[in-house]
Amino acid sequence: MNIASVIVDVPASSINQTFDYKIPERFQDVLESGMRVIVPFGPRKIMGFVVGRKAKSAFKGLKNITEVLDITPVLTPELLGLGKWLADETLSLYITSFQAMLPQVLKSQYKKELVKMTEADLSHELEMVFAGRDILPYEEFTGSEISYYQLQKAIHDGDVAVNYLVKSKITKKHVTMIKSSCPMHLLEEAYNDLSKKAKKQREIVAFFIENSEPVELQKFMNEMQTTRSTIKILQDRKLVTTYKVEVLRNPYNDTKFESTIPLRLTDQQQQAITPIKQKIAANEHDVFLVHGVTGSGKTEIYLQAIQDVINKGKEAIVLVPEISLTPQMVRRFKGRFGSNVAVMHSALSSGEKYDEWRRIHRKEVQVVVGARSAIFAPFENLGIIIIDEEHETSYKQEDQPRYHARDVAIHRGEHHHCPVILGSATPTLESYARAQKGVYQLAALDKRTNEKAMPKVEIVDMRNELHAGNRTMFSRSLKDKIEQSMERKEQIVLLLNRRGYSTFVMCRDCGHVKECPHCDIALTYHKNSNQLKCHYCSYEEPMPLNCPECNSDLIRYFGTGTQRVEESLTQLIPEARVIRMDVDTTRRKGAHEKLLNQFANKEADILLGTQMIAKGLDFENVTLVGVLTADSMLHLPDFRSSEKTFQLLTQVSGRAGRHELPGEVIVQTYTPDHYSIELASVYDYNQFYLREMAMRKTFNYPPYVFLALVTVSHQNQIKAVQITQKIVRMLVNHVGEDTVVLGPTPSPIARMKDRYRYQCMVKYKNEPKLRALIKKIIQQFDDEVRKEDLLITVDMQPYQLM
Ligand code: ADP
Ligand code: ZN
Ligand code: ZN
Repeated sequence: MNIASVIVDVPASSINQTFDYKIPERFQDVLESGMRVIVPFGPRKIMGFVVGRKAKSAFKGLKNITEVLDITPVLTPELLGLGKWLADETLSLYITSFQAMLPQVLKSQYKKELVKMTEADLSHELEMVFAGRDILPYEEFTGSEISYYQLQKAIHDGDVAVNYLVKSKITKKHVTMIKSSCPMHLLEEAYNDLSKKAKKQREIVAFFIENSEPVELQKFMNEMQTTRSTIKILQDRKLVTTYKVEVLRNPYNDTKFESTIPLRLTDQQQQAITPIKQKIAANEHDVFLVHGVTGSGKTEIYLQAIQDVINKGKEAIVLVPEISLTPQMVRRFKGRFGSNVAVMHSALSSGEKYDEWRRIHRKEVQVVVGARSAIFAPFENLGIIIIDEEHETSYKQEDQPRYHARDVAIHRGEHHHCPVILGSATPTLESYARAQKGVYQLAALDKRTNEKAMPKVEIVDMRNELHAGNRTMFSRSLKDKIEQSMERKEQIVLLLNRRGYSTFVMCRDCGHVKECPHCDIALTYHKNSNQLKCHYCSYEEPMPLNCPECNSDLIRYFGTGTQRVEESLTQLIPEARVIRMDVDTTRRKGAHEKLLNQFANKEADILLGTQMIAKGLDFENVTLVGVLTADSMLHLPDFRSSEKTFQLLTQVSGRAGRHELPGEVIVQTYTPDHYSIELASVYDYNQFYLREMAMRKTFNYPPYVFLALVTVSHQNQIKAVQITQKIVRMLVNHVGEDTVVLGPTPSPIARMKDRYRYQCMVKYKNEPKLRALIKKIIQQFDDEVRKEDLLITVDMQPYQLM
């Protein structure tokens, strides 16, 4: 078995296969699947993943593996299998899939060092190469003749550790240590030799005669009241030595979380958790959809289910949307499970992320709470996977590999025979439909744990405001309510739905929105050409001068930004203290948390923000929630726009009156009769589900069909169209009768970075060979992809249709 199959780091479809390499003697005892290696590839040396070992190769003249990067595999056998599945499923390259499962740090070669962790002697050869030092540059080991097996064994026994030297400006996480560097009798000799006047030096030497343990240099200098220069003298005399060690970054200081105990469950919670606990006990896979209104205690259900899993010695993955991975959220998990929780958050530095990953890899924690990519946590004994807010689109990765975390979760759940929990107040139609069909198990919680009613929602028709001469973005009703709240010293959350910025066209008199006659989707205004276009079927028409419904000339394209809203808000209510939260004000690390803390400390009356304030926040003093333009998302060129509007309104309404004070919600809209707004205002998910399903059925959209989106981009517009046209034709020739192939259509963003983008959409119910077919079709363009900078991307589960 001295040949390794390696997936090399060359992102090209022609290289998307394993290559065989000989395993040199030195690596034979250690090399395992899932380790990264360096191999010669053409004239270069590149990184690769070992995916298997074998005795024979069909090829002659194999080259040797140059170097082994990991002493323990970074991908478990399960994750290797998952990576292959993921690549096939999303039509991505194997190498891309593998790298997506690992922290950034492991995508490149970092400098490493070996640290001697024990006072006892290592094996003779290892002692030789350490040569009395505690820290050894990794290259010195690889340059030696010692077998990797010896090192692996020492690591396994805990005698040696590998440090990755992650360089990062923000997070310098090394401490300098000082210790004596010569035998005791030499120290004593030196002490006697030192002049009586060199008082400090003598004190230091005396200290090390007494203490052989290394100490932190900074603390040591403070305590001895000495300076670097004094230490330098002793260092030059080779009496002491200083060196750096890496300290594991723990971005969340665990001690600051107050610990919590399991709550007595309500009847509804009890009903929901019982079947989940049964599956955990029986080691069986199943998917549960927990449909519970905000405040119904879903999180408490997660926590108690996880407790069962921990008690069984197993592990748990909890996914929460990036945006709601707030300190409040982290506190709930750390509060219950303390340092047994790792947190994977994109706001962490790459070093911090890597440390959290390593705590999972080393099995130091049993729970990980994280955003999308935490689904790849290298646990080997999973007992539950939870996806909170399962409707969130951030669970879909919009880059290769274009996977949905829900699919990965279910795949891993099947492998580990463990339940998968999807939780939401507003499940996706896809998931709810599966629950209706019995594919998922449904648990419904329609009451808040404190029995408080959901806040009352008032819909304000902004057309009336206009007719009454109010041209601001704030209705009279909202202005009054804000002022009343401020008088009562209560707080306000204002949501500006900023997606859909300046895109759709609407009549400000009658609320009419121009839609495509073939697609039931809002047309998008193209400023350059002054045309309205449909992004699904290429239909277009000129921008009208008058409303086709009421003939008013107040037909405009629509959209606005948070900064402008803030300005007009402070004009309208000058005494209001406003915190604005959007991508601009939260870009800096920690800014998000800081702004929320300010609001929690009542340093402001109003929190104004985009989608990012809609979720998870829980402030007891917030009694009024205002939604400035509920419809702005409704008319995006996206068949999910009604669903997203319903979800957002429901979410944001849940922010008001969560505690003692009763809450109130004001929704401003130009289309008050739209079913997603009407039904969200009375919290009627079931009715919404039925209405929306009927629409999807009529227009042939998911969940009634599956979609696949092929996007072609090229600098030459004609070329992009022609290639898309060819792809469409080849697809049409090979798919079944019920399958619809649409295109070529310009992508909603028709030109990006000077490339023209065209797309082809496949709508299908049952096409078992579609992936293979698309793959084969795309391969025919390999030459053009390589030589002519053509780009073809495939999304087998498109969410963002841009
Ligand atoms: P959700 O995740 O469904 O929005 P949470 O789990 O956040 O709901 O619960 C809402 C509030 O109710 C929280 O403050 C939580 O501590 C509290 N809570 C949850 N379960 C119970 C229970 N069984 N008894 C009392 N309070 C509870
Ligand atoms: Zn009109
Ligand atoms: Zn259309």
